Amino acid sequence: MSATKVRRPHPPAVPGADRMLPATAATRLLAVLALLGACTSAVAFMLDPKGTGATVYALVAAVFVVTIVAAPLARRVRPLRIWLVQTLAGLALLFSLFSQAVPLRIGPLRYSDITYFLGYVFLLIWLVLLNQRIASGGHGRRLLDGAAATIGVTLALWSAVLAPMADGAALPPALVWSVYPTMDVLLVSLCLHLWLRMGRQVPAVSWLLATLVLLLCLDLVNSITGILAPPGEWPQVMGLYQFFFLGLVMATTHPSLIRLTQVRAATSEGGRSGLRGALTLLTTVPVVLAVALPKTGDTDVIVRTVLVSLMLAATFTRLSISLRALARTEADSRLRATQDPLTGLLNRAALRDALTDLTGEPRDEAPSTAVIFLDFDNFKHVNDTWGHDAGDTLLRTVARRLVGRLEGAQVIARYGGDEFVIAAPVEDLADALLLAERLRRCFDEPVAVVTDRVHTVTPSIGVTVTGPLRSRSTDELMTEADAAMYEAKQQGRGRIVAFDAELADRHRLQARVGDRLAEAITADAFDLRLQPVMGGPGYGTVVGWEALARWHDPELGDVPPSVFVPLAEQFGLIGALGESMLRRACEERARLGGALGQSDLAIFVNVSPDQLLQPNFAQVVQATRDAAGLPRDSLWVEITESLIVDEGHAGLATLDSLRAVGVRVCIDDFGTGYASLSTLLRLPVDCVKLDRSLVAPLGVDPATPGRLRAVIDMVHSLDIPHVIAEGVETQAQAQALLDLGCPMAQGWWFGRPSAPEDLLTATSPRAPG
Ligand code: C2E
Ligand code: CA
Ligand code: CA
Repeated sequence: MSATKVRRPHPPAVPGADRMLPATAATRLLAVLALLGACTSAVAFMLDPKGTGATVYALVAAVFVVTIVAAPLARRVRPLRIWLVQTLAGLALLFSLFSQAVPLRIGPLRYSDITYFLGYVFLLIWLVLLNQRIASGGHGRRLLDGAAATIGVTLALWSAVLAPMADGAALPPALVWSVYPTMDVLLVSLCLHLWLRMGRQVPAVSWLLATLVLLLCLDLVNSITGILAPPGEWPQVMGLYQFFFLGLVMATTHPSLIRLTQVRAATSEGGRSGLRGALTLLTTVPVVLAVALPKTGDTDVIVRTVLVSLMLAATFTRLSISLRALARTEADSRLRATQDPLTGLLNRAALRDALTDLTGEPRDEAPSTAVIFLDFDNFKHVNDTWGHDAGDTLLRTVARRLVGRLEGAQVIARYGGDEFVIAAPVEDLADALLLAERLRRCFDEPVAVVTDRVHTVTPSIGVTVTGPLRSRSTDELMTEADAAMYEAKQQGRGRIVAFDAELADRHRLQARVGDRLAEAITADAFDLRLQPVMGGPGYGTVVGWEALARWHDPELGDVPPSVFVPLAEQFGLIGALGESMLRRACEERARLGGALGQSDLAIFVNVSPDQLLQPNFAQVVQATRDAAGLPRDSLWVEITESLIVDEGHAGLATLDSLRAVGVRVCIDDFGTGYASLSTLLRLPVDCVKLDRSLVAPLGVDPATPGRLRAVIDMVHSLDIPHVIAEGVETQAQAQALLDLGCPMAQGWWFGRPSAPEDLLTATSPRAPG
């Protein structure tokens, strides 16, 4: 049979263009006009399908199609690539409207049939693109669903309607008649996907769906009448296609159209189960019909068999794709749960299991397990200087190098920001330390953190081993390695420290101290001790005192400041402790000054770097000093040298504010850190305290006096007016310092830190000579 039979008077819908008019009077009028146009032209066609009726019909249809194409473009819909497909569909429809009069043919097909069919194909592509756009992933599955549904409907249509109606001889034409309804089902199914996903948000889609359902109904009727009568015999049906165009106009002129490609819709659970239900019906009912209904001949049997096979193939392919996707998702989520995304190493959660496996595994060789905790030194500096991408590059590079250094059954994980944990079977602690050293060497080679910039970073490494007995839990091992790493940090950069009995004791003590510290600070359980600072000829005069904190805990006994000060800093308690010490130091200094009748005595108070970060620190210090009634220039604060080295420390600005309110600033422990001449030069300081380690070798190491002289000269050359030597324990040291011209000194030789009340009764301090 000729394909011309299949042709209908108008092309199918141009999808897409929507924009319905907002309900203003003008837009309502336009809608009414369109409806009138559709009705009039449809009736005209039904009455006179060959003459004027056909012309009126074609003209109105052409206006509709132009609207369908132009409306979305006028609204500047995006992405253009998708909407151009819709434009092509419209143009194909327009062309077939007007080419029907031209009897040009390619074989049995008329031009208008080909362009009409092309219009269908563009429409399908457009709907597929829209579906892809709004949903993420699963495109293949949706296409297969559409195919299965389409085949199902065709099968049902064939078995229940077309085959019985056209007996044996008419079967091939009936097959051709089923092409359009089949494509309609595919269109409806694609549009249904869109509608279920966004129907409520985008009314244009509802219009589109309704229009496509109308098209399906018309094509079904058209197919049936096509079998029963020669083409063109049923102008009533043909005329109704005008309402299909009208529907498309409603959809493409609706204002919500613009949102069609902007919304990324998530299918609701309800939508998904609705789709699943519809799909089940569309695939099972047709099979039942195809099997149950009587066959009309061989062709019928072949058609039904082919359709059933195709549907089964689509359904099974779909199923296997789903199962594969499920397996992939499971594997992905398993990976995500155990892997650090930046480095690809195990993450913290996975480390625990891996560690438990490794430590629990019985081994004859290498019976112990080493747990190595590795933390970058000054990693923050990299991020601050070059940005986080550079930090990431550094972490990734080092991770790769670490993995390269390890072989076999070893565990490596990124524990936190710049912390890595490595576990490996070893013979003993010595073996573990060798491994740690191998890992440390991964840091020797600089890393290109940004183009043309290399950076060398050092790690602090803590090591612990299980020992063959393996009596500790993985948690305990982690705590030990962490504590050893912390100790390594305290010792400086790039150190490796093994967890040992002494560290264990200290660690236990710190844990207990930490527990009691907050309580002690709240209860103000600290004692104030004052150590004299000497000056004048032969260091014969007390020029002031340094205030030092002491803590005697009823349970723990005497806890030295070297233990509780760092802990208070770590727990954020140093502010409270420091303020209390400052207040009491000022009060004691005021009392002593009054009792001794001396107003020019200095009080030196230690201040932690963290305290300098407190926004109003200088004001608090000033207020405390004034409240105690001290003279303006009698309060000196001591800041450790390590703060000064960290030039970026935000607290450095506080030093200016302190000096502005008359507080003198001392650099404490000078000579232990890395403060350079240039940093000292730029700092607002009044005094430098030479660390005990510089003074101690006096009288032992002949090079010491020369070195000290150089330091003292340097301090003077920087216009820093005061120098104090700390830790003077012997008369010889005191004399040597006098000979070197050091103006002030402090140490056990002159007096130990003592309670303020004892200072009044004490005999006057010893002078060197
Ligand atoms: P520092 O500021 O260097 O204090 C001097 C330390 O040296 C004191 O130790 C003092 O007792 C000790 N010392 C003084 N003369 C001699 C000597 O001739 N030989 C020897 N071997 N040692 C001497 P202390 O009291 O144990 O304090 C240790 C550190 O704790 C202090 O070092 C200081 O940094 C810190 N600290 C003490 N009290 C406070 C406080 O109230 N606040 C803050 N932030 N830190 C404090
Ligand atoms: Ca000090
Ligand atoms: Ca000191």
